[in-house]
Amino acid sequence: MTCKQVQRRLSAFMDGQLEATIARQVNEHLEVCPACAAELARLQKVWALLGTLPPVEAPPFFAARVLARARERRAGGIGRLAELLPARPLMPVAVSAGILAGVLIGTRLGTLVSSLRSQQESSVTQVTAEFDHFADLPPGSLSEVYVALAAANNSK
Ligand SMILES: [Zn+2]
Repeated sequence: MTCKQVQRRLSAFMDGQLEATIARQVNEHLEVCPACAAELARLQKVWALLGTLPPVEAPPFFAARVLARARERRAGGIGRLAELLPARPLMPVAVSAGILAGVLIGTRLGTLVSSLRSQQESSVTQVTAEFDHFADLPPGSLSEVYVALAAANNSK
């Protein structure tokens, strides 16, 4: 293990959070490397000092004040955005909105027309299928007359 690899793991090594094999490798390195051993000693001293510090208490209403400040920031953010926009941004916005609306309406109309057309086509196919149904009926029968009438009506 290199010094860099060891020093990256020193904190976890002190906390006993390393895997057994890795902890053993770090330990072996520390025994032969004075630099890393010194680094470990330094870290241990810092941790010991941190441990002696009294716990810091948050000032009263700390959370409420932080939240209020955050709300101010957010409101300020929107206000600043409005300031950044040019005085008359409405023309290009209106034009592009108009183009967008046109495209949307065009697309809608196209879809509507094609769906109407396909509905028509499917009803024609249905009628044709019904014709096929009557196809082997005897000539001069009522169904043959119906088919003839329907065909005449359809060809109009
Ligand atoms: Zn080392």
